[in-house]
Amino acid sequence: MPDLSQRNGPHIMAIANQKGGVGKTTTSINLAAAMAEAGRRVLVVDLDPQGNASTGLGVEAADREYTTYELLVDDIPLEQAIQKTETEGLFIIPATVDLSSADIELMSNERRSFLLHAALRQDAMKPFDFDFILIDCPPSLNLLTVNAMVAAHSVLVPLQSEFFALEGLSQLMLSIREVRQTANPELRIEGVVLTMYDRRNNLSQQVELDARENLGELVFRTRIPRNVRVSEAPSYAMPVLSYDPKSKGARAYQALAQEILKKHAPLAA
Ligand code: ADP
Ligand code: MG
Repeated sequence: MPDLSQRNGPHIMAIANQKGGVGKTTTSINLAAAMAEAGRRVLVVDLDPQGNASTGLGVEAADREYTTYELLVDDIPLEQAIQKTETEGLFIIPATVDLSSADIELMSNERRSFLLHAALRQDAMKPFDFDFILIDCPPSLNLLTVNAMVAAHSVLVPLQSEFFALEGLSQLMLSIREVRQTANPELRIEGVVLTMYDRRNNLSQQVELDARENLGELVFRTRIPRNVRVSEAPSYAMPVLSYDPKSKGARAYQALAQEILKKHAPLAA
């Protein structure tokens, strides 16, 4: 395992899976909130034009003047784009539907795959002293997701415990390999997290068996259960950890955060 205690700056994680509705945004919001609750300073970068992470963390549409679009396309300073959330230690760069045209607008830009990397590695990042940056990716392997993978140290893959869950994974792994070969040789897979897990459902169990058999240690021990409190929280513009801290969903995201933080703990002196 690399000695991350020597690392400079935050650990950057892309939350990616080109399938929609598998729990990317839910995981971005709630894993980030759980890390913040554990005392880390965390930034969520909303890289999905749907802006669901922004809504879920309480940034209303009217308050999205400076977004990931301006960060990538207009190269605005980072501090202009970063907003506080209601959760102590948790920040966000919001997104709007504007971002959906970034792909085309950036087509002729030679550095188009490196724009998020450049933005997040600015010296301007230092004063924020983030420990983690979680990038909520769109449901596609497009230029935005490539930007996330180029900027990231690792990719965290939510896997919905449903039929065909594993089907898209080989495509995702190909994209990761391609980014490694062309732009970011250090890119690792942080892990695969089973989402919307229902222990009474045979299908969930089968997906878990298949995932553990095929991906082994890459699959986190923590499973995120299907939990109605998790799906309700965004309409109250807060993480489930604030909305219902005792819910199964909140506890699962706390456990996932602990599992990840343990891996990233500086080696004991
Ligand atoms: P993605 O970002 O991959 O498209 P989302 O995180 O938006 O996926 O999740 C898709 C839908 O599933 C949302 O309506 C969300 O509220 C719901 N959902 C996600 N995780 C859970 C869960 N653990 N329990 C119940 N509903 C969930
Ligand atoms: Mg999403």
